[in-house]
Amino acid sequence: MPGSELFDERERNAVAEVMETGVLMRYGSAPARDGLWKAKDMEEAIRTCSGVKHALLLANGTAALTTALAALGVGSGDEVIMPTFTFVATFESIMAAGATPIIVDVDDTLCLNPDAVQKAVTPKTKVVMPVHMCGAAADLDALTDICKKHNLSLVEDACQAFGASYKGKFLGSLGNAGCYSFDYNKIVTCGEGGAVVTNDASLYERADMYHDHGHDHENDDRGAEGHLFPGYNYRISELHAAVGCAQISKLEDFLRRQRLHKKHFKDALSEIDGLTFRRLPDPEGDSSTFLTFFVKSEEQARSVTRALKDAGVEGVFHWYDNNWHYVRNWTHFKERRFANPIPEALLSGMPDYAKADFSASDRWMSRCISISIKLGWKEEDLPAKAKKAADAIKSAL
Ligand SMILES: *Cc1c(COP(=O)(O)O)cnc(C)c1O
Repeated sequence: MPGSELFDERERNAVAEVMETGVLMRYGSAPARDGLWKAKDMEEAIRTCSGVKHALLLANGTAALTTALAALGVGSGDEVIMPTFTFVATFESIMAAGATPIIVDVDDTLCLNPDAVQKAVTPKTKVVMPVHMCGAAADLDALTDICKKHNLSLVEDACQAFGASYKGKFLGSLGNAGCYSFDYNKIVTCGEGGAVVTNDASLYERADMYHDHGHDHENDDRGAEGHLFPGYNYRISELHAAVGCAQISKLEDFLRRQRLHKKHFKDALSEIDGLTFRRLPDPEGDSSTFLTFFVKSEEQARSVTRALKDAGVEGVFHWYDNNWHYVRNWTHFKERRFANPIPEALLSGMPDYAKADFSASDRWMSRCISISIKLGWKEEDLPAKAKKAADAIKSAL
């Protein structure tokens, strides 16, 4: 990870094809296109690999999450349950839809703790939004049961988990909707991009309209198209989709490489006393973008992180100290510092996160370290790289 590590002539040629037609927009201009529809092609590729009936490509993953919620009819006065460990885009997208983010503890899966979700359900809850962090699945059986029991929608934030699966099913395909990101740091990248997938035809149609100003896309002449409701502009461009088409054709190779690279690291670290690994509800489905482990204390985690960085190991994350991925440092959000006044219904129902107790999450996150697994590593270098990381960790324990 990320897919940009292995850009080659496939991406360059795909972009050049689009530039030759000069049609950079995904809709309209059929005669000038010469049969080239990159956004449609990437949607087809996403449907094929996910096994889902409908796929909509958008400008980014945040827009995909917002669009999925809006298309589900989720908004003002509704609550959406999300985890303490995720990228800020998760609560941003819930707020953009007008709904209230209800933040809930994670466990040693680094994803939503189903018991904590169960306790957080209220009459206002509409959606449970698990985030498949670091390329591996949440405990989807338990979360699906909770959604069924309370008649809630499951929207998977699979933005970090394109290509990963749960018990043989592509992540994003198990909920009412699933969302992906193809931003510059993700395993498959368009530079900027995202997608919503669903098996629900009406949800797809509403998402399709919402993401393009309400256009119903039922006419060749955009000016003559109808509008059921207003939307936004969350469209992707043909240039971005062209890069994505080339990248997605490499997904199998990306997964094979990452799984092999991760195995070397995991084997080397398995021999270290006092270190345990993240619990994966389905180890086989892990996309292996990260290797994540726990040490015994917060202090140990800080010294191990420092030792790894000093040894020159790239992509080391102690998420507990990270400003963007863990609730502890979301001070802007917790102190309610927003750019403009936020709708009253959203805020009035929101817990006081400045005072909230997330010690159950802290217990895991304070001791947790992830190492990013690179696509571009050479096979012959793996044993030495893995040994270097293992030696650095041992030196700090
Ligand atoms: C990357 C990411 C997003 C947002 O995707 P963008 O394409 O950057 O908008 C949302 N959720 C998670 C968990 C992410 O990692």
